[in-house]
Amino acid sequence: MQKKDNEHRVAVVTGAASGIGWAISQRLASDGFQVVLLDKSQTVFERVEELKRDGHKGTGVVADLSDLASVPAMARSMLDDVGRCDVLVNNAGTHIKHEDGSRFRFEEVTLKEWDLSIALHMTAPMLLSQAVLPGMKERLWGRVINISSRTARTFAMQSSAFYAASKAGNLSLTRTIAGEYAAYGITSNAIAPGRIETPLTALDAATFNAASLAGLPVGRVGQPWEIGAAVSFLASDESGFITGTVLDINGGAFMAP
Ligand code: NAD
Repeated sequence: MQKKDNEHRVAVVTGAASGIGWAISQRLASDGFQVVLLDKSQTVFERVEELKRDGHKGTGVVADLSDLASVPAMARSMLDDVGRCDVLVNNAGTHIKHEDGSRFRFEEVTLKEWDLSIALHMTAPMLLSQAVLPGMKERLWGRVINISSRTARTFAMQSSAFYAASKAGNLSLTRTIAGEYAAYGITSNAIAPGRIETPLTALDAATFNAASLAGLPVGRVGQPWEIGAAVSFLASDESGFITGTVLDINGGAFMAP
């Protein structure tokens, strides 16, 4: 049923070459969407071939989303090529760390890390949403799904100010879109993952990874496919009454003592 509904729908996933974005892309492709894999890494083209080998439809776009001036034109050209965007998943992100994997303490933060985080986690998602929402509005159906972070919800000692603040702004963007576009069959929701095992978290200091498990009710880190499964639901027709929400996927972290 869902597969049939999605047959003519296009999902754009940013940061699709690795980790959570790749898992989301695989899941949406198996749900029947034509998936546009957008990333700054050329690896997206190998990922697209992988999807096609599995019988799915995919297209690769290489773009650096922190180059904000180029994003609107890139988005227009992408829409010209693929024709439409029904689901936008703003997932591309990074957590800048010191070389040893430790976080930037508050007084160490410079405008370099601050600006890049705001650009990647807030401004690029805003610009991409502006590009795709008019088409969604015309078709009276659309899904914007922003991948935020647990650190946007609560103070986390392992996180840096620029990462936390930009991921919190991402939640506000989610709600603004939800409110302004609710009348057009468009929903906007965020996912706030806790610790997920990806190349990004592998870069962290070992102490950071151990600390993230301490007291966590489920006693393990999450897997990228578990975020993919939630995106699949939020991207479906069945989730149309859910908008402006944040789904905390964190192994029960908020219940921990
Ligand atoms: P990852 O490093 O495995 O993948 C991130 C992808 O984003 C990479 O393919 C990278 O090339 C791409 N990317 C980075 N900067 C880009 C840019 N300027 N332009 C285009 N693409 C760019 O990381 P991940 O763990 O899969 O993280 C995905 C998202 O989930 C991020 O937004 C991250 O902040 C968020 N998140 C991750 C975790 C976790 O524990 N892994 C937890 C909370 C939130």
